[in-house]
Amino acid sequence: MLSGLRQTWDLESIFPGGSESPELAAYMDTLDKDIAALKTRVAALQLPATMAVAQPWVDMIDDIQEFSRRFRQMGAFIGCLNSQNVKDQKAKLLAGRSGQMGAAFGSVQTLLDAKLLQIAAPVWAEMLQSEKLQPLAFNLQERRRRADAKMGPEKESLVGDLSVDGYHAWGTLYNTIVGRITVPVGGKPLSVGQAFNQMSSGDREVRKTVFTEWEKAWGEQAELIAASLNHLAGYRINLYKHRGWDSILGEPLDNNRMTAETLNTMWDVIEQNKGPVVQYLQRKAKLLNLPGLAWYDVDAPLTASTSKVSFDWAANFVLEQFGRFSPRMADFTKMAFEKSWVEAEDRPGKRPGAFCTGFPAAGESRVFMTFGGSMGNVSTLAHELGHAYHGSIMRELPPMAQGYAMNVAETASTFAEMIVADAAVKAAPTPEERLALLADKVERTVTMFMNIHSRFIFETGFYEQRKRGLVSVDRLNELMENAQKKAFHDSLTEYHPLFWASKLHFYSTGQPFYNFPYTFGYLFSTGIYARAMAEGPTFERKYADLLADTGRMNVEDLAAKHLGVDLRKPDFWQSAVDVALADINEFLKVTE
Ligand SMILES: [Zn+2]
Repeated sequence: MLSGLRQTWDLESIFPGGSESPELAAYMDTLDKDIAALKTRVAALQLPATMAVAQPWVDMIDDIQEFSRRFRQMGAFIGCLNSQNVKDQKAKLLAGRSGQMGAAFGSVQTLLDAKLLQIAAPVWAEMLQSEKLQPLAFNLQERRRRADAKMGPEKESLVGDLSVDGYHAWGTLYNTIVGRITVPVGGKPLSVGQAFNQMSSGDREVRKTVFTEWEKAWGEQAELIAASLNHLAGYRINLYKHRGWDSILGEPLDNNRMTAETLNTMWDVIEQNKGPVVQYLQRKAKLLNLPGLAWYDVDAPLTASTSKVSFDWAANFVLEQFGRFSPRMADFTKMAFEKSWVEAEDRPGKRPGAFCTGFPAAGESRVFMTFGGSMGNVSTLAHELGHAYHGSIMRELPPMAQGYAMNVAETASTFAEMIVADAAVKAAPTPEERLALLADKVERTVTMFMNIHSRFIFETGFYEQRKRGLVSVDRLNELMENAQKKAFHDSLTEYHPLFWASKLHFYSTGQPFYNFPYTFGYLFSTGIYARAMAEGPTFERKYADLLADTGRMNVEDLAAKHLGVDLRKPDFWQSAVDVALADINEFLKVTE
């Protein structure tokens, strides 16, 4: 049993002295100098004609790994400083400097990449066999293949330059527009973030009023936002055309290292299993005394979970539950608590939200959150510790081989959260509490199966139309409402046509199709969880091996190797969906 746990993290063991740390300052100075020297070395590298003269290249790629470790160490520390105290001015300056240093490192990597591409295929193949590069073979080949699918360095460099104002700027403009929008509620102008929070109010009148104002506010800016969306999409379509890429989903699928077949199978299985989800929505409407749910009722609270627990209790609960699945994961977590890797104190001046960050040079992680004692906080704690465990499994790998895509990034965290959420439902002190916790789990399924699906349907439909020309506000509204009706099986009484305008994800230039990876990640973890429950403690080894490969395999190979399943076939997805449906059935039974 852990007791008397400290709720503030220990950063002193990384760099003593916080933002005033002389050790950190010296670390940054050295890194700065070393980057300059690295740039000179890269510029001087000659293309190797044979493997006999390729050694400097092999060494260079290996060295770059060490540089990324150092960069991440510095960036993580400064990120922690800024999160623990948003008023730390010195930390802000450090973040600015570290951003500049990161850009310098980025340009060295771009230079190296451009040169790497010119190495002749036979020499390249031999280089990949070398002891130092073999562990990076998947990632290096991926880089080369991705660059090869583009237009050639000269044109792509122009694309990169033009994209600043011609592409990313549309995303930035969107953010500017959103920042100016206010939603009048009760005579007060609320920001969109504030208004959004009001829409999960327990009072239906409040939700309905805010939603009406919400739609109106987005409607007033719809022309501008539609222009932003149209141009952003037009840019992408044109660029893909010039690169000879015929499918709009090609890039997002490749970013997530998955095939279209896998994606289609996943949506098909979900589609076939929506019946119980619709039943849940109907039951929820009854419980809320409504003839049916409107868009703004879907996330409305039924009954709030009210239990409060102490941080010590939460830590022991998480440890105990992890231990049932994996003693190794529990040991790791115990160590994390004992070494004060967790910042959970509820105090002013902290940044909102939660995250986990790794210090690769130190071989450690830190978890950040604000623990107020709710069961939701216990889940968050488990979630972030899941990330930390994932990090600990990958720690020995070269940084390049740790680069997992968005769709598997949440595997370990969701898995950890599921273990704890399931146990919390079982351990609930009252039937009301139990129902509230169960509903929390089901709501997540509703989001993944219905809401995210509607975004995917909208985006694929929108891109098809955009290929033929600009898409008007009215047409966008229509496409969105139709997508919502389709995804929700017509089960709602009112929809949110301007969702295309209010959802930030459609404007993310860094991640095209920022939707399906969420559902994939959720179901992938759920399927693993189903397997862990069936196999018991012997599964922990397989689980750790799977996590270790998340940054260096495509998802189909990852699942085949570690789970023995084919993601292009429905079976695995069905097993995952069944876990989610079990909660729904339980909910329907309890509320009969
Ligand atoms: Zn996460």
